[in-house]
Amino acid sequence: MSYQVPFEGEAARGPWSEEATRLRQALCRIGALCYQRNYIVGADGNLSARLSDGTILITPAGAMKGFLEPHHLAHIDMQGHSIDDGPRCSSETGIHLVAYTERPDVRAVVHAHPPHAVAMTIAGVDLLLPIIPEIVVTIGGIPTTPMATPGTAELPESIRTTIRCSDALIMKNHGSVCVGANLLDAYKKLDMVEHTAKILWLAYMVRGGLDPLPPEAVAKLLATRKLLGLSGHNTLENSCGR
Ligand SMILES: [Zn+2]
Repeated sequence: MSYQVPFEGEAARGPWSEEATRLRQALCRIGALCYQRNYIVGADGNLSARLSDGTILITPAGAMKGFLEPHHLAHIDMQGHSIDDGPRCSSETGIHLVAYTERPDVRAVVHAHPPHAVAMTIAGVDLLLPIIPEIVVTIGGIPTTPMATPGTAELPESIRTTIRCSDALIMKNHGSVCVGANLLDAYKKLDMVEHTAKILWLAYMVRGGLDPLPPEAVAKLLATRKLLGLSGHNTLENSCGR
């Protein structure tokens, strides 16, 4: 690799702006968390954050995201070109660029392979069904985007329409894409996606099917969004993924 490893002691702060240093550290922490929580294994997944100058910090190609250090991250522009002599960006960078292009409000993207959520899409279970009140009130549901070939332009294009109206989605047979106002916000949605899938999985196993809440119950829950001051994207309110 052509990039220089910082001198000892420099890695924690590095030759970066205060904002870039903070985001690099946050990317390492959230990457480790995804790994510890089994949302990614090996070199799976990728995480990124948008700086205030519009450039992107993203996990590098082939890296294990549970063991990142701040100088391991790639720094790219919105065309995916490196803007320093640091590491090469992830092969799935296109997913991130589409999310940032379609959503000017988004400052962080977390792509992972949460096992229960992905398994549910393989099994053909619709995670958009309104069943769990917490999910109905916040993100609404979790849309599934069509199967697309990783490593090709097909993959980022497959999420373009859905990411406009949902903060979380599952790419069929592959993995999740969660976006947010910051890395913790995007990670929070990944946590919600996998926890929801686990609960629905258990219910499905016990009962052999899933019953959505009746429309009146869903309407009552959605009416509480205003009272709770929730204004983010909600797939039930905006018919996302339908
Ligand atoms: Zn992936």
